[in-house]
Amino acid sequence: MEHRSVSPHVLVFPFPIQGHVNSMLKLAELLSLAGLRITFLNSDYNHNRLLRYTNILDRFTRYAGFRFQTISDGLPQDHPRTGVQLKDMFNGMKATTKPLFREMIMSWCRSSDPVTCIIADGIMGFAIDVGNEVGVPTIFFRTSSPCAFWAYFSLPQLIEAGEVPFKDDDMDQLVTSVPGMEGFLRRRDLPSFCRTKDANDPNLQLVMIETRQTPRADALILNTFEDLDGATLSQIRSHCPKIYTIGPLHAHLKSRLASETTASQLSNSLWEEDKSCIAWLDRQPSKSVIYVSFGSLTVITKEEVMEFWHGLVNSGSRFLWVIRPDSLTEKDGGFQPPAQLWEVTKERGQIVGWAPQEEVLAHPAVGGFLTHSGWNSTIESIFAGVPMTCWPYFADQQVNSRFVSHVWKLGMDMKDTCDRVTIEKMVRDLMEKRSTEFTKSAEAMAKLARSSLSEGGSSYCNFSRLIESIRLMSA
Ligand code: UDP
Repeated sequence: MEHRSVSPHVLVFPFPIQGHVNSMLKLAELLSLAGLRITFLNSDYNHNRLLRYTNILDRFTRYAGFRFQTISDGLPQDHPRTGVQLKDMFNGMKATTKPLFREMIMSWCRSSDPVTCIIADGIMGFAIDVGNEVGVPTIFFRTSSPCAFWAYFSLPQLIEAGEVPFKDDDMDQLVTSVPGMEGFLRRRDLPSFCRTKDANDPNLQLVMIETRQTPRADALILNTFEDLDGATLSQIRSHCPKIYTIGPLHAHLKSRLASETTASQLSNSLWEEDKSCIAWLDRQPSKSVIYVSFGSLTVITKEEVMEFWHGLVNSGSRFLWVIRPDSLTEKDGGFQPPAQLWEVTKERGQIVGWAPQEEVLAHPAVGGFLTHSGWNSTIESIFAGVPMTCWPYFADQQVNSRFVSHVWKLGMDMKDTCDRVTIEKMVRDLMEKRSTEFTKSAEAMAKLARSSLSEGGSSYCNFSRLIESIRLMSA
């Protein structure tokens, strides 16, 4: 009798926000290229947006065995789903998504094509419970940085040592309970959830409990490369030995596709990309433009917009600025900046609602990135060799920005300030005064990132190990 070996059937399940969907869809595509069969479980809300703004259906039809499935995120259609509402999102997932997910997995496991492995977002511990219940191995994919993961993981020690909550207002006090970061991590560099007066604060408890679930997973995938995060990874490995570092994921995927594939063909954007900014960049001198974007969740006030505006205009630099239609606080929703600033902006700047970021960062006209330090943005900037000025908003971003400035020396950290004078100075330093120094270190790190993806490099080899491991788990 002919024996036909069937390839593993992997369920990939992201938390329903842009940075998580983007990187997990890239992972799913990489796994498809390696011949695995994938079910990608997207929230209904995000799936509709992907269908509206991207070509994902055409793109994925070429992979035999790839299918999209959708699930409710538990929130009403008109919920804003921005950063400040993250707790609602967790509650929606717990109350609605979790029981639906359990039902779905149960029925898929009874079907003729059962799921053989789950790759779940590492902030959804319930996926491990469900996986255990049906006897399917669960791998976690953590979309945040290793340094932030390690700070989250160390929260019980931070609380036990009395370092969190903070005893007074001295935000520059060094913390000593995150192993390996004793010499440079200040209170202000801890994840934003530590800025509470109550050790039982629900957000703090949530990230701590979710992160401490990780050793229960069969393995952990991280979007980084060994040369960038070796020291932090060795700390994490003492608790989670089976780690696959396969990043930078966006570039990893591109490197395995036909060379003519462009970043824009691989877009997973939940907003419509305004491609006109590429033509505008084409007209700007080399490394003359600072790209300004605060990601998909940041919400800012009109006062902050004005400080950035003045700071950017006064810096004399050219700039490309992403202001998402939903990025102003509700009370400032209809805000329009003064006409005279629009005039200056037209001469030296461009504003878009959503940019094709990977393409922007790879553009020769871009010489710096004013970023909120989301992990995807950070690793995309590192790969492109673009130095950063960091203005972290929340969550892991406070840790990432400290690593960018202090550990990797790829730019500057502007956290906890937002005034036009500081912004002007930071932009001038990044684009002029310290540009040679930062560009040199950013290019050196980008080279290491590229070599991690080439044949024999760490991310390249780790990806092969991951596939092998999924095959074994699924057998
Ligand atoms: N992004 C984009 N266009 C924009 C702004 C952001 O394509 O105008 C993408 C960016 O490339 C990244 C993701 O959105 O992949 C944002 O993820 P990140 O982790 O940086 O931040 P978050 O949105 O989760 O705060």
